[in-house]
Amino acid sequence: MAKKGKLTPMMQQYMQIKEENKDCILFYRLGDFYEMFFDDALTASKELEITLTGKNCGLEERAPMCGVPYHAVDSYLNKLVEKGYKVGICEQVEDPSQAKGIVKREIVRIVTPGTNISQQSLDDEKNNYLMCIFANDGSYGISFVDVTTGDFRTTSMDSLAKVRDEIFKFEPAEIICNDAFLISGMDFDYLKDKMSIVISSIEPYHFDEEQAEERIKRQFKVGNLEGLGLLDHPMGVIATGALLGYLHETQKSSLDHLMHIEAYETSEFMIIDSSSRRNLELCETLRDKQKKGSLLWVLDKTKTAMGARMLRNMVEQPLVDKKKIEERYDAITTLTDQTIVREELREYLNPIYDLERLMTKVSYKTANPRDMIAFKTSLELLPAIKTVLEECKDPLLSGLREDLDPLEDIHNLLEDSIIEEPPLAIKEGGIIKEGFKEDIDKLKRAKTEGKQWLMELEEREREKTGIKNLKIKFNKVFGYYLDVTNSYKDLVPDHYIRKQTLANSERYTTEELNQLADTILGSEDRLYALEYETYVMIRETLAGEMERISRTANVIAQIDALASLAYVAERNHFVRPKLNVRGTIDIKDGRHPVVEQVIPNDMFISNDTYLDNKKNRVAIITGPNMAGKSTYMRQVALIVLMAQIGSFVPAAKANIGIVDRIFTRVGASDDLASGQSTFMVEMSEVANILRNATKNSLLILDEIGRGTSTFDGLSIAWAVVEYISNSKLLGAKTLFATHYHELTELEGKIDSVHNYCIAVKEQGDDIVFLRKIVKGGADKSYGVQVAKLAGVPDAVINRAKEIARELEEHDLTSGAKDIMPYGEAQQLSFFRESDEPTMEHPFMAELREKDLSDMTPLEALNYLYVLQEKLKNEE
Ligand code: ATP
Repeated sequence: MAKKGKLTPMMQQYMQIKEENKDCILFYRLGDFYEMFFDDALTASKELEITLTGKNCGLEERAPMCGVPYHAVDSYLNKLVEKGYKVGICEQVEDPSQAKGIVKREIVRIVTPGTNISQQSLDDEKNNYLMCIFANDGSYGISFVDVTTGDFRTTSMDSLAKVRDEIFKFEPAEIICNDAFLISGMDFDYLKDKMSIVISSIEPYHFDEEQAEERIKRQFKVGNLEGLGLLDHPMGVIATGALLGYLHETQKSSLDHLMHIEAYETSEFMIIDSSSRRNLELCETLRDKQKKGSLLWVLDKTKTAMGARMLRNMVEQPLVDKKKIEERYDAITTLTDQTIVREELREYLNPIYDLERLMTKVSYKTANPRDMIAFKTSLELLPAIKTVLEECKDPLLSGLREDLDPLEDIHNLLEDSIIEEPPLAIKEGGIIKEGFKEDIDKLKRAKTEGKQWLMELEEREREKTGIKNLKIKFNKVFGYYLDVTNSYKDLVPDHYIRKQTLANSERYTTEELNQLADTILGSEDRLYALEYETYVMIRETLAGEMERISRTANVIAQIDALASLAYVAERNHFVRPKLNVRGTIDIKDGRHPVVEQVIPNDMFISNDTYLDNKKNRVAIITGPNMAGKSTYMRQVALIVLMAQIGSFVPAAKANIGIVDRIFTRVGASDDLASGQSTFMVEMSEVANILRNATKNSLLILDEIGRGTSTFDGLSIAWAVVEYISNSKLLGAKTLFATHYHELTELEGKIDSVHNYCIAVKEQGDDIVFLRKIVKGGADKSYGVQVAKLAGVPDAVINRAKEIARELEEHDLTSGAKDIMPYGEAQQLSFFRESDEPTMEHPFMAELREKDLSDMTPLEALNYLYVLQEKLKNEE
């Protein structure tokens, strides 16, 4: 790159700032533009599809340059940040008119994916987390924050797999870490490519233990870490310290809105590993990553963005504490019993804006007057919500009512001070209401009365001079002036001072007009300044009440989430489950919460489930393809999960033994990008389950061992069932779906294994799916019938039936050897008129060859006789 010495002073300043912020694309403010130079310009012009130009920078060659207008900077900035770049915003930090030499510029904020506060790029219903991970000798500290809402949490753990689970749970936009984490063996490619997480290591000095403590104490205004509950998480403390350091370096503004940190134990929540999280489609679908079709989609009928984020958090973190779960049940019972209260609450919640994100804007000093009106509107209904909650007697809702601060003083302040439809700008007046501040009212009067004074002066001058069309006008360059058309030029008195001559008129001023203009314009400037000052004061007042506002925002979020669960429970006929710690899962008429929504006319068939920690630990589920095995197994997992979220469940009755973890191994998910084959992925997941599941876990295993040869697969599946069902080895409650009917032999051999199958009815050649789970094993897979239903050509179906028949007659493997490969079998014609392929009898070929014209009728008759005899002998 260019040598400094020769650069122009401005470029020298640029280079110096760039040098200190090498990992950022620098948005360098020049007039109404943010300019980028050199490599940044090359990158940005490509990524933003903007024109690359050049600028003389003092060197022989022009510096590559591109720019974006400052008023539209947000969209460009978001585009870069969403692509994973960090952007340094470099502003002029002194008044150009006061500057001696080149205007001083500084980076005022570094925007990264995890610290982006632009509303444009944020999903209202999702947190935008920045996560910091500190790895040291097999231990890990995790700390993460959503700077847009103030949600801040930390924990520590002892295995990389658990770190991975937390990453999948919270899906941060950005991860910062120490170098040790980069070589921990984490699958970074997956995180980057599949989850679009931006990952970078930060300087080691950030991870200093002492400094971390100091930073935390300063940030949360405490004397020691005990009060924050951080003593049990020394690794979390270091991660939090580093996170705060990084925030200070990048945000360069007050982080006052980050007032709390919550230390949590992963054991407080049900553990759901990353692949189960995906498989069970908790918050998004497996295939197209949409909320629609996920469990959250069914449960989320919240009215506010805060409530939506709260509910997502609840779904992501099912509880294991019976008391806490039952508290939620009680609240939902209240809200389903008292429908009117619930609906009234939901109506009041409706207009409430995102108080958490509004507060962040207040803290970042970016909240504009319209945000204030949104704020006020949101606060308007708080007293009503508090009153309505008085009717709810259960402890959780009563507690929330007590915590709900109606913030009437803040509402009144905003009501009294900000006009109803204020402008966006804060420096051009028109914000403060009449009556709020006397000085402002006076200046406003001067402004309006000034107009009157001008009109009077105009009239007087007309009379004095006799210039009938004399007018006082205003423009930005000349201010106020007297406009005289050329026809009256001769009547202009001597004391008029000429300002400008135009083709048809002349512009003058007088001393009196100058004085008047000064008063009017001066009052306007003063008014704007005073309104701005007052506005800032109001914003600061709000900033000072951050603690109260954020507590209320949290209460609103909880009420909204609970009301949503109650609404969904009622609408979808969910029931309140019972909980037990014996480990029994007893579901009567359970339904799949999502599938039942998409199946028309209430056609979903409900099913029972019974599992316990003794004789009913493992259910082997067989049944044809398409019968509903996967749906059934997922339904059981989801019902247990919903129960532990605190939600009611889709069943007629449910008694749920609290589980510590849910593991699923469902379907084949190729992960070729990470260099793993389907079977390898399957086996890694099985390994993970067998190593980490406990007696209190729920396992959903679908088709283990399908990715390899039949015998290998069957053997693995068999061994897995034995291992799981043996309480000395694992003993977890398990639903195990399989097409290996041989596994049904385990019933009777192992006490805790029982066979179930999903019933079907044969109707001639076809099957009817009954979707009902019954005791016993299926003896057929009906794969061929399902293939027919799917539209596989008849030729293939018929041939498959033949092969199946032959296989049934032989032993599986020897039979397979006897079967000729498909391609080598006699050719089938797919194009017969009947579309019905037939295997050609050898006689046909002979018949085709025969030249009948060469035969006498008797010979022909004899030939026919012989053929018939042969055929008879074959039968
Ligand atoms: P495969 O072995 O081929 O994976 P499967 O037995 O796992 O099949 P599912 O995928 O669970 O079958 O179900 C197939 C379809 O049947 C579902 O998409 C759903 O539409 C329907 N279905 C499943 N269970 C039910 C039910 N209980 N009531 C009504 N329809 C159901």
